[in-house]
Amino acid sequence: MPIFDFGCSHCGHKFERMISNEEKKNICCPQCGTPEIKQLLSVFNTGSRGEKNAFPCQAACSGNGCKFGL
Ligand SMILES: [Zn+2]
Repeated sequence: MPIFDFGCSHCGHKFERMISNEEKKNICCPQCGTPEIKQLLSVFNTGSRGEKNAFPCQAACSGNGCKFGL
């Protein structure tokens, strides 16, 4: 199964899940529990995950209160 990156639109928590397309619709934020989750445009497993560079918007928002703009 592919790994998807998600961002919570409620608290901004970022997490990743290895789930099927079916399960994508049923996930909640592991931090605040809201089902308001946005799927982030993720770089698929390339072997070298650059955590700092995974989200282009981090440069603009310094990683605080990021709404991802997706
Ligand atoms: Zn949340």
